[in-house]
Amino acid sequence: MIKKVRQHPSQNEALLFETSSPGKVGYQLPALDVPGVDPVDVLGAQHVRAEIENFPEVSEVDVMRHFTRLSTWNYAIDLGLYPLGSCTMKYNPRVNEAVARTEGLMWIHPYQPEALAQGALAILAELERVLIDITGMDAVTLQPAAGAHGELTGILLVRALLEARGNPRRKVIVPDSAHGTNPSTVHTAGYEVVNVASNHHGMLDVAALEGMVDEDVAAIMITNPNTLGVFEENIARVAEIFHAKGALVYMDGANMNALAGISRPGDYGVDLMHLNLHKTFSTPHGGGGPGSGPVAVKEQFEPFLPLPRLRRATAGWSWDYDRPKSIGRVRAFYGNFGVLVRALAYIMAHGGEGLKRATQDALLNANYLRKLLEPHYKIPYDAPSMHECVFSNPSTGAIAKRLIDYGFHPYTVSFPLIVHGAMMIEPTETESKQELDLFAEALISIAKECDENPDLVLKAPHSTRTAKVDEVAAARKPILKWRGP
Ligand SMILES: *Cc1c(COP(=O)(O)O)cnc(C)c1O
Repeated sequence: MIKKVRQHPSQNEALLFETSSPGKVGYQLPALDVPGVDPVDVLGAQHVRAEIENFPEVSEVDVMRHFTRLSTWNYAIDLGLYPLGSCTMKYNPRVNEAVARTEGLMWIHPYQPEALAQGALAILAELERVLIDITGMDAVTLQPAAGAHGELTGILLVRALLEARGNPRRKVIVPDSAHGTNPSTVHTAGYEVVNVASNHHGMLDVAALEGMVDEDVAAIMITNPNTLGVFEENIARVAEIFHAKGALVYMDGANMNALAGISRPGDYGVDLMHLNLHKTFSTPHGGGGPGSGPVAVKEQFEPFLPLPRLRRATAGWSWDYDRPKSIGRVRAFYGNFGVLVRALAYIMAHGGEGLKRATQDALLNANYLRKLLEPHYKIPYDAPSMHECVFSNPSTGAIAKRLIDYGFHPYTVSFPLIVHGAMMIEPTETESKQELDLFAEALISIAKECDENPDLVLKAPHSTRTAKVDEVAAARKPILKWRGP
């Protein structure tokens, strides 16, 4: 067996499989003080695995050090600016964690009797209430576990409502500036996706939409602000047009961090929408833990919301399962409880004024970066930016990799698809002017390198453990299985 030697803990790291040595274990158990049994006799041979092939045999300290070293290779929001557009990599305030680790919340069990879980149910009810307030809608379900899951729940609600009216209809209109999950959701929910191009400002094309909507259209799914980081200024007019034909307006509100405290979708014709708590309300995401994609609806959808619903009676909070029109369960229990607690902590720590301020700062930061970078990078649409700005450069991939050498996480590359060579930058409200200046300086310096020394950019990164990888080979001939030493 060939062993990789670890030269320096930060430079090279063998796989656990490679450091394995036979007989090494990570635990010591006391001798049995009861008669031993053969697992095969107790469980049956079909449930007992003789051996796990190539299972690494290592000690506890081997495992700890291996994963701790690997963790130092990661970039994280706690290390620096993380401008991954559309993903809202904002700082996760530690107060959220402190609240989620309150003993009574940390140890609560989903099967705990309602009478012993009143505090937890009250927390869920309070989060529903504040989300209703923030969105201007009438009811909220906290069950969906991610943004895309919220979308699916939402379109299933559209289907349920229209079915109850007698005809579920066939088509859902999705503008080309929508998030990629929108067409997938439509398809998964059994509707036909009808694509529509944006106008030259990167906004909804009212005239085109007016010509498309008929009695066969169930809904339009509008990402707002859209993937260009642009507010859909025509959304209220579009809502009127769709409502006149009995169709519904779904808003992808994953980027509500551009609107919270300033504008409420329920006030401009949106019938239902989802939120991404792991974006707007600062709960960890990106390998950092489960997400949460609550769906907020207008009253007409309330009877169809997923089971169970929170209900308040004189005896206190309880779960209501007796809802014959419900679309049923979309998730076990009632959502990712720990995440919901963190989101409510964030909202309460800010208060209404604080949330508005966070939104304004997010917009200010994105527009500040836009102004600094505009002389050096092309902006493909003239509309004002909200919480993120999208530039266009044919070398977007190489520039993103070069950013790593400057100590920053790359921006979102080649998305949205309607911008050729998209560079999608979302600084969030987390960043100070100082940090934004450093980031802009890095990108300006790279723009200069593109002219003066293009190879430096094209072959980046130069400072990382792994240099530029062969992306074609990685896609065409991926090695997905460890082949053994
Ligand atoms: C992130 C995002 C989604 C998807 O959310 P997930 O939690 O990753 O499923 C959908 N729409 C928009 C606009 C987004 O930014």
